Amino acid sequence: MSALHVVPIGDLVEHVSEDDCLCEPTAKPVKADDGSIDWLMIHHSLDGRELTGNDHSG
Ligand SMILES: [Zn+2]
Repeated sequence: MSALHVVPIGDLVEHVSEDDCLCEPTAKPVKADDGSIDWLMIHHSLDGRELTGNDHSG
């Protein structure tokens, strides 16, 4: 299993390429060309740039 980490550039905090990063990255399965599933780990910028809704607060 492989995972590709998408980390915000120049964020206020330092992200680590682990699924237990403090930003609680979202794991999204993506199908590779060979039919296998790769995991896209989408990290969240903690300054709220990406937040357009209010589904997660606190
Ligand atoms: Zn992170």
